Amino acid sequence: MPDYRYLIVGGGLTADAACKGIRSVDAEGSIGLIGDEPDPPYLRPPLSKGLWLGKDESSIWRGTDEQGVDLLLGREAVALDLDARTVTDDRGERHGYEKLLLATGGRPREIPGAAPGVVYYRTVADYRTVREAAKEGTPVVVIGGGFIGSELAASLAANGCAVTMVFPEDAIGARIYPSDLALFLNEYYRGRGVDVRPGEMVASIERDGDGFRVRGKNGAALDAEIVVAGLGIVPRDELATGAGLPADNGIPVDDRGRIAGRDDVFAAGDVARFPAHDLGQDLRVEHEDHAKSHGHQVGRNMAGANEPYDHLPFFYSDMFDLGYEAVGQLDARLDVIAEWQEPHRKGVVAYRDADGRARGFLLWDVWGKVDAATELIRAAEPVGTDALQGLLA
Ligand SMILES: Cc1cc2nc3c(=O)[nH]c(=O)nc-3n(C[C@H](O)[C@H](O)[C@H](O)COP(=O)(O)OP(=O)(O)OC[C@H]3O[C@@H](n4cnc5c(N)ncnc54)[C@H](O)[C@@H]3O)c2cc1C
Repeated sequence: MPDYRYLIVGGGLTADAACKGIRSVDAEGSIGLIGDEPDPPYLRPPLSKGLWLGKDESSIWRGTDEQGVDLLLGREAVALDLDARTVTDDRGERHGYEKLLLATGGRPREIPGAAPGVVYYRTVADYRTVREAAKEGTPVVVIGGGFIGSELAASLAANGCAVTMVFPEDAIGARIYPSDLALFLNEYYRGRGVDVRPGEMVASIERDGDGFRVRGKNGAALDAEIVVAGLGIVPRDELATGAGLPADNGIPVDDRGRIAGRDDVFAAGDVARFPAHDLGQDLRVEHEDHAKSHGHQVGRNMAGANEPYDHLPFFYSDMFDLGYEAVGQLDARLDVIAEWQEPHRKGVVAYRDADGRARGFLLWDVWGKVDAATELIRAAEPVGTDALQGLLA
């Protein structure tokens, strides 16, 4: 049985950042990384954006092997024994540890009963599958109007595919953006040749010859050669729960990344629910910046740094030639105020609590203002249009 000072389960961005965090404190301790994808850690955001716009696949790799890590790829960790301090993989091999990190991320939500062949988009393998099949004029149905669905629909349309978007909300990104902006996006996508079908829940997906027939509950019947879905993820917490550790919308951790007060088991990234001090609540965040910064900090803490994670993560998205950065909590149900330099093209949106304090900011085609927006959230003072104008200046 190989024994590691540090064992990481998961082969994503968080795992890579944790290796780098460990190495920033401990240059020597052995690190093992168990990942069930065949590929070493890579950036996922380019899979729905940059790789469709000419970026080379070689740009996504994180170089984790340069950290002196045993990469145990193509194998799934299936059991955790907290007393023996071992993890067993699906080949039956056991791996001992002194410190363990669960960086298992999430599994894409699927449509019950759908025919095989629907791509629940998350991995570089999914990218290669869709890329191979997506030719000029190929009919594609994209299910979901959130981040992944909106980015992929734009990228596929920009590559000449005949894209139909289906989602149950009224508008693209309706859970995140103020309603006027979300409705603008419906029209913007239509103007770029995407057949946008809001208010449509998928009822069934069947095979039809070499292709698919997608039926909606409101009667839509769509034929496609490719069906790709972005329906969010379910945290992969089964290793933790199987060992008797708690999980509820992710694995709860303290501000050091420790699980249930233990000092030998940690969780980070998409799978972890952590105390977001600036917002006064626990959050589970599914974004690149959080994966990198939480992974790095928790890696440092595994190696003994004992420092709190107090970073407020930011994120970004691109859709055709629209793009933004954002920080904090973006929830269209909050009190929303906006200040536009050019309507729906360039502006700042603030998401406020009942006392008018900022919980989050959307910086729409406004760049380099994430730090200033973060300071406004941290100040916990009521914000008005003057603050938004300040960010726009
Ligand atoms: C297409 C796409 C585009 C995105 N775009 C953006 C963006 O524009 N901006 C942004 O901020 N964020 C974006 N994200 C989100 C961001 O990529 C994620 O938040 C981040 O990658 C999460 O990293 P993670 O390592 O925590 O989890 P994951 O990426 O889910 O990695 C976990 C890894 O562990 C493996 N694993 C899980 N359980 C086991 C096990 N038991 N044994 C072995 N291996 C296991 C999984 O297979 C996976 O490889 C995007 C995500 C996707 C999919």
